[in-house]
Amino acid sequence: MVAEVSDVRNMTRPPMGWAGKTLQEMLAESERLLVDTGHYYGVNKLSLKENDPIRYEKIWSRLRGGIVGARETALNISASPIVREIGELCFGLYTPEGDSITLSTGIMAHVHTMSEAIKHMVRAGYEEDPGINPGDIFTNNDPQLGDVHNADVQEFLPIIYEGELVGWAAGVTHETDVGAPQPASMPIGTVSRYEDGFIVSCQKVGTNDRIHRDYENRITTAVRTPFYWILDERCRIAGCQIMRENVLRVIEEEGLETYKTFIREVIEDTRQAFQKNLKLMTVPGIYRFPSFMDVPHSIDKGQMPEYAAVDSLMNCPMELRIGTDLAFEIDLDGANKWGYHSFNCTPSGIQGGLWVGLSQTLIPNDKVNDGAYLATKFNTPYGTWANPDNPAVSNTLSWMYLIPCFTGMFHGLSTAFTARGYVEEVVAAYPFTGNITQGGGPNHMGNPNGAWSNFEHSACGTSARYVMDGETSCAAVWNPEGDMGDVEAWELLEPLLYLGRNVRPMSGGAGKFRGGLGFETVRLVYNTPHQVMFNARDGHVFQCSGLFGGYPGATGYRHSVKNTDMKERIAKQLPYPTCDQDPENSQIDANVKGRTVVKDQYCYHRPDPHQEYDVYLSLIAGGHGVGDCLERDVALVVSDLNEGYLFGRFAERLYGVVAQQGTDGTWTADLAATEAKRAEMRKARLVRSQSVEEWMAAQRGRVERMEFNSAVRKMYRESHELSPKWRREFTAFWRLPADWTPGSED
Ligand code: MN
Repeated sequence: MVAEVSDVRNMTRPPMGWAGKTLQEMLAESERLLVDTGHYYGVNKLSLKENDPIRYEKIWSRLRGGIVGARETALNISASPIVREIGELCFGLYTPEGDSITLSTGIMAHVHTMSEAIKHMVRAGYEEDPGINPGDIFTNNDPQLGDVHNADVQEFLPIIYEGELVGWAAGVTHETDVGAPQPASMPIGTVSRYEDGFIVSCQKVGTNDRIHRDYENRITTAVRTPFYWILDERCRIAGCQIMRENVLRVIEEEGLETYKTFIREVIEDTRQAFQKNLKLMTVPGIYRFPSFMDVPHSIDKGQMPEYAAVDSLMNCPMELRIGTDLAFEIDLDGANKWGYHSFNCTPSGIQGGLWVGLSQTLIPNDKVNDGAYLATKFNTPYGTWANPDNPAVSNTLSWMYLIPCFTGMFHGLSTAFTARGYVEEVVAAYPFTGNITQGGGPNHMGNPNGAWSNFEHSACGTSARYVMDGETSCAAVWNPEGDMGDVEAWELLEPLLYLGRNVRPMSGGAGKFRGGLGFETVRLVYNTPHQVMFNARDGHVFQCSGLFGGYPGATGYRHSVKNTDMKERIAKQLPYPTCDQDPENSQIDANVKGRTVVKDQYCYHRPDPHQEYDVYLSLIAGGHGVGDCLERDVALVVSDLNEGYLFGRFAERLYGVVAQQGTDGTWTADLAATEAKRAEMRKARLVRSQSVEEWMAAQRGRVERMEFNSAVRKMYRESHELSPKWRREFTAFWRLPADWTPGSED
């Protein structure tokens, strides 16, 4: 789908690259030098850093500080709670060829995807057509060219000094609505790109620092919430302008040649730092951590085309290879096929996942840029969900499998850190950032309730470390400084009232150290005639395991009560639900009656109609656990009981802790009884256990005959067809006949 490369050598205007080169020539040279010398732009000596380290750090601080400051200023220009309240934006500075130099805080996942979009503009000959001039504004939200999904809209401003392109200022925000047939920013149930809504493919949308009126007209008619879109566009442009002026000031004061030397060196510096950290913190080897995700679209039969309304399981057999030569390779060979759903990824999108993972593990400081990316290799096999051979697939919720997929990298790196002794760096991966609450109502043009996307899932629980529990409700994998936002701000955006927002007990995975807890919100559809609502998170399967014996975080479910008695309850001042807390003793079920109760594990579905006074539960995920539950400090178990984070009935079953609740409600543990109970549980575990050989022998026949449900069979069939390596290994592992196949279509 990417436009053909047009050679700009014969263009009429003088080239705007350095030393009379075109941008295409600069990009080609950069790629050649990396291959030939092994160093970014052939920089094998960090001369500026070594000869004048203070000046080097000063330039760094001015550029990075300028970007962080630009973000803080710009976010106040936006009106969207997604941007203003929870900081769902990020800015980055790039080289003329599109390599990231430095970035702000925020949704860092997009730093490399914006890099891909700039490289596309260079390769496609934008230097000649449509031309790159001072004051130009380019916009992109096309995942085929450089993005994760079209809800993330990116802005690019060229930075031009005395006729030469010295870099790009770029910014990204997540929009409230993308103008798809279904409302909101990440529609579910779309089967192709032609249902993904408004897609702008690296388009020049402004000149002389002003957005073109025809582009504004297009936005006004293309999306349900043009007000937010246009103000977000202004927020991104303002941030980019602040960055641009800052860079030009640095060039004026430090000199152009120093700036050029600096941006080459700082990327090579990070590339080397990445390799140093890799050598310091990991043990070379092959680390394998598969993950899976359910796509249960059979629930949508009759609403989707027949070929799409099926259950699927996505397969990510992630292999991480760390070489003695400091190679860092991620391989998705064996992944299964893309599907007729909105969870497919593009190679650009999946690089976003890699980038955000690395910046939180191997480069855990502010000196992050594409140098880290350049030290890695990533195989995304063609035809799979990670690199579809059909450019028309839908991508609106690519994150749905990007996040589970990268749990394998966090687990692999954490295992490698442990092997090297860096146990403080261990993290049992991030949970899927759900439930994503989205919806929309009657779509009158400009109706602020026409579509809304709530982003409180930006504050999930984090996973346990090797030495401590995860944190409660504070982060998302794509925004480590996540915030749940104020209830009042969300209530302005969506026609739902918050009846309550509470920490959700037991949502984090159990373990010696448990995952941080997620939270729950109970919402009431209010002051709107008709709303469709989505859910979005893992439902039928765990998105990954815990680590070293820990449990994964709880999976989600949906729970709505429709046609309720809430109006009457409010009028008569009767109790109504402000929390849910325990699914087996649901406070919602106890405090509201309705003609229809939806309570199942179908967390992905087409828009589900709700109406006035319906009650909706949203469960925000908790993190995963680390280590054996029977090793958990008894005092931590008692503390969790007293805080209401652990239900009493699970203290003994999960942790072997014998505890009693006093008349004042306080829990205490019987240490002697606990010790005896744990000894008994360890013995019972040994009796119940079997060797891997025994387990494989018992399962082999089942595998050979593919006695699994249709989604699992379909997944195996697809991986078997797409990957000779996966086929060989699967057949050898299960000692199946050489000509074994998973059978034909059901
Ligand atoms: Mn996004």
